[in-house]
Amino acid sequence: MKNRIWLSSPHMGGTEQKYVNEAFETNWIAPLGPNVDGFEGDLCHYTGSKYAAALSSGTGAIHLALVMLGVEPGDEVICQSMTFAASANPIAYVGATPIFVDSERDTWNMCPDLLRECIVDRLAKGKKPKAIIPVHLYGMPAKMIEIMEIANEFEIPVIEDAAEALGSNIEGKKMGTFGLFGILSFNGNKIITTSGGGALISDSEEYINEARFLATQARDKAHHYEHSKIGYNYRMSNICAGIGRGQMEVLNDRVEKRRSNFEYYRKSLAGNENISFLEEPKEFYSNRWLSTIYVDRSDSNFSKKDIYTSLLLENIESRPLWKPMHLQPVFKDAPYYGNGVSEDLFKNGLCLPSGSNLEDTDLFKVIEVIKSINY
Ligand SMILES: *Cc1c(COP(=O)(O)O)cnc(C)c1O
Repeated sequence: MKNRIWLSSPHMGGTEQKYVNEAFETNWIAPLGPNVDGFEGDLCHYTGSKYAAALSSGTGAIHLALVMLGVEPGDEVICQSMTFAASANPIAYVGATPIFVDSERDTWNMCPDLLRECIVDRLAKGKKPKAIIPVHLYGMPAKMIEIMEIANEFEIPVIEDAAEALGSNIEGKKMGTFGLFGILSFNGNKIITTSGGGALISDSEEYINEARFLATQARDKAHHYEHSKIGYNYRMSNICAGIGRGQMEVLNDRVEKRRSNFEYYRKSLAGNENISFLEEPKEFYSNRWLSTIYVDRSDSNFSKKDIYTSLLLENIESRPLWKPMHLQPVFKDAPYYGNGVSEDLFKNGLCLPSGSNLEDTDLFKVIEVIKSINY
């Protein structure tokens, strides 16, 4: 069997083990300790956010943000439809209704015009949405300047899902720092990983302190165990945070390599008029977490499905773009404000192998397979 070429697999830098060993040597085997503090400091330094709470997952970070905003059963939360289910699931955890908004073509993320239309319509129906969750898919920033203008105009807080976009920015301002909250993920397939984990970042010290409090079972200040709020067990382990500290040392290299994968694919497939690439709008900088292609040939035998199958036969992993949330059986009753863009992207888009540990020969192999498809 040929060695599998993965979509996006973990890539250690070398110093992770040192931090993990330190945790063992000092017996900080707990969801707190020097690595957790150090990792939070690294995240603030890198993103420019004032505060950060390291958590057990990105999903948990979104959940805590919604809890702190007081989102309750019966409330509505606006969410980008084109995304991974983890952006929307926490809305259901708090008993609220997700309201899905479609994407625009330039970034594949939340369309500001539709967002405005959605807010105006929800207000007319008598309910003010409690939060807005835009997503930076595959590392490409959403149009955050426009989105923040609208959110500020209607005074609705923004939870920025930057799980896929650590290292991306608009005009140098890092993704995750535009909204009241930003959430990050360090799951195994993300640009850096702690094996599993996430973070909530914000310029509000109060909110981040509250997040840490809620994430450790909401223990009030007392000698005994006193609780006046429902808490969660969402803190990151000091072992995982050690991996994170090592990974932060190589984050810039990871971004560079992922961007160079993308450039390689784009150059190599430039001659194929059926394949197009997502360009960065002016002043937008994507970490190119995943390299994606758009194949507008669903009527031929050179569709995204044909490419997917041909790659699979060579033991190469690729993946369709996210299936929009408004098309998911579990969210079929949720209101949706659309233009068909996300549906079209789902039909025609594909993610190519994008890991920072891919060899030149792997990339070459991917291109060779795609070029060999007869149509
Ligand atoms: C990975 C991801 C998440 C969830 O992060 P976890 O750490 O896996 O819980 C949320 N949103 C998006 C867009 C993601 O890709």
